[in-house]
Amino acid sequence: MDINSINIMKKIHALGEIHCIDYIGVAGLEAYQEEIAEIGGALPAGYPRAIAIGIALPSAIVDRLGGDVTYEDVFTYQEHAYDIINNRLDLFASVTASSLQRAGYYVLPVPAAERIDSDRVCASISHKITARLAGFGWIGKNCLLITPEHGPRVRWTTVLTDAPLEENRDIKDVRCGGCKKCAESCPAQALTGRNYAPGEPRESRLDVAKCEAYLHTRKETLGLAVCGQCLCACPYGQKKNR
Ligand code: SF4
Ligand code: SF4
Repeated sequence: MDINSINIMKKIHALGEIHCIDYIGVAGLEAYQEEIAEIGGALPAGYPRAIAIGIALPSAIVDRLGGDVTYEDVFTYQEHAYDIINNRLDLFASVTASSLQRAGYYVLPVPAAERIDSDRVCASISHKITARLAGFGWIGKNCLLITPEHGPRVRWTTVLTDAPLEENRDIKDVRCGGCKKCAESCPAQALTGRNYAPGEPRESRLDVAKCEAYLHTRKETLGLAVCGQCLCACPYGQKKNR
């Protein structure tokens, strides 16, 4: 790693403080190129590293997703825990990309809410995978990235780059143990309650079609396709467990 890339990460962390970004870290992708190529084709697979960027969701909003929810609950979630947080992530990814490009590196910010395959419901690179490789947490039985401090209550994005940044070497083991609260809370029975294992397809843990069908019924009954019960139920990130 050269002095240029040390300085650039210092600058990105300082900018992150100003923007109230909760997580900024570097993932090494080279050992995972095959997996990434399978999800997103050759474009993201050409980058050796990614910067994972995360913002913690307002806990009081997520807490309102459990049990009987109202239009106000889901509208507040859609507005302040989805759309605006994704916009802030995209803005910060753009600032990060400009900083790296100015320093002479090649860089591709991936949209936070990108979906390139509607049937499989996936983006060109999984932001959860880059956050896991950056050392921020593990993939839970709800298929979300679980951080020790905020649990799954974090939204993520990714900036791909060829900059020779220092990569995280400490990838966290799965800590779900015998817990199945997310699967038990799912009104669509879309989660199998199986632990994440690298290389195992997401379908072994989540039936995307069942989840999507339930979101569709939420749109019809409440006006917005918001559920998030598997997010709210996770003990990691709940205030009483912090
Ligand atoms: S979002 Fe709702 S329906 Fe989908 S997996 Fe989570 S709890 Fe189940
Ligand atoms: S609710 Fe339990 S099983 Fe599900 S992700 Fe959280 S810790 Fe893991």
